Amino acid sequence: MSADAVVSRKGAHRWASGHPWIYRSDVTRRPDVAAGAVLVRDTGRRPLGWALWSPASEISLRLLDAHADAVIDTEWWRGRLRASAARRSSLGDDTSAWRVVHAEADGCPSLVVDRYDVWLVIQLLSAGLEAFRAPIVDALVDAFAPAGVLARNDAAVRTKEALTRETVLLAGDVPREIEVREHGVRYLAAPWDGQKTGAFLDQRENRMLAGQLARGRALDCFSYHGSFALHLARRADRVTAVDSSLAALARARENAARNAIDTIDFVEADVFDFLREAESRGDRYETIVLDPPAFAKTRGALASALRGYKEINLRAMRLLSSGGILFTASCSFHLSKPLFLEMLTRAAADSGRRMILRHFLGQPLDHPEVLTIPETGYIKAAVIEAD
Ligand code: SAH
Repeated sequence: MSADAVVSRKGAHRWASGHPWIYRSDVTRRPDVAAGAVLVRDTGRRPLGWALWSPASEISLRLLDAHADAVIDTEWWRGRLRASAARRSSLGDDTSAWRVVHAEADGCPSLVVDRYDVWLVIQLLSAGLEAFRAPIVDALVDAFAPAGVLARNDAAVRTKEALTRETVLLAGDVPREIEVREHGVRYLAAPWDGQKTGAFLDQRENRMLAGQLARGRALDCFSYHGSFALHLARRADRVTAVDSSLAALARARENAARNAIDTIDFVEADVFDFLREAESRGDRYETIVLDPPAFAKTRGALASALRGYKEINLRAMRLLSSGGILFTASCSFHLSKPLFLEMLTRAAADSGRRMILRHFLGQPLDHPEVLTIPETGYIKAAVIEAD
């Protein structure tokens, strides 16, 4: 019986090579305590550091601090928050919403903190982390003095941690809708019931770039609340925004009005059908954006996901006018950068046209991708020009 964990050589090696997770099968002595922080030792009983302990999860331990004498309290969390904020100091004031803490990538395993203007929306995604809810909220209030802190703890991964799924206010108050400023565009985020924590902050700079490249007739596929379309409309003559969700399109319409933009047409359709029909009509676009949801939610779904990605990219390539620009993205973690490029290459080959890779893009500054922690990176995007 002990409050400490002991891990196998393989488990210890994972930490030594820069990944913070130790799986259940590499824990040779499980701590006899509830979820929280535990001291971890190697097979020789040497202390390796402190970790979040999740008794029910396959990911048993998540490294917090490699110093055995660390004390994981409010002050410790405040230190991590300060370091995360400093990493983002060059973000500038062109945006009022950004990710303050990107979990493992910021040394705060399973913690997501997104800032929307003066409010914070957080996710506590492991049992070990949930045990620190109070000190984390205290540290957030100390560090950022937010008007409110909302926990979007409704993510499915919480069930793997034997945690309930809930959306709950942890401090102050948080409105149903928050206006976000993003490089000259305004849109409403929906912290209580929107996707993720209320908006997709991870493509902010990619949207700005797509807006700078846009012209002529533009198409925004999988538009959600229209954030790409709003950027495209700044330079394009006319934009068609396509999404299968009427609720998302209703918000997109409101967002267009908020920006005094009247050049966007909203279409409720399945993008696969829309692209097929546009192709058979012989339509042409100067600018196309493809920002689909993750088609590969699991590794097993990768093969069929690749067929889906290839189909929409191939059709988009065929719809481009000469000199036209395609911005295309994937947020499936299981689709690696090489596979993404290979899929685009096959689509280009089948399109019968010469496609030029102008930019290969990844995540913005506030979603750091740590090389030794592949799970911290999931967005790949490319800008492709048709010859
Ligand atoms: N581009 C958006 C985020 C897109 S999220 C942004 O930058 O904010 C993915 C969107 O795709 C969701 O709004 C969802 O409703 C929509 N969607 C999913 N499958 C679809 C399909 N087959 N056809 C059309 N829209 C789809």
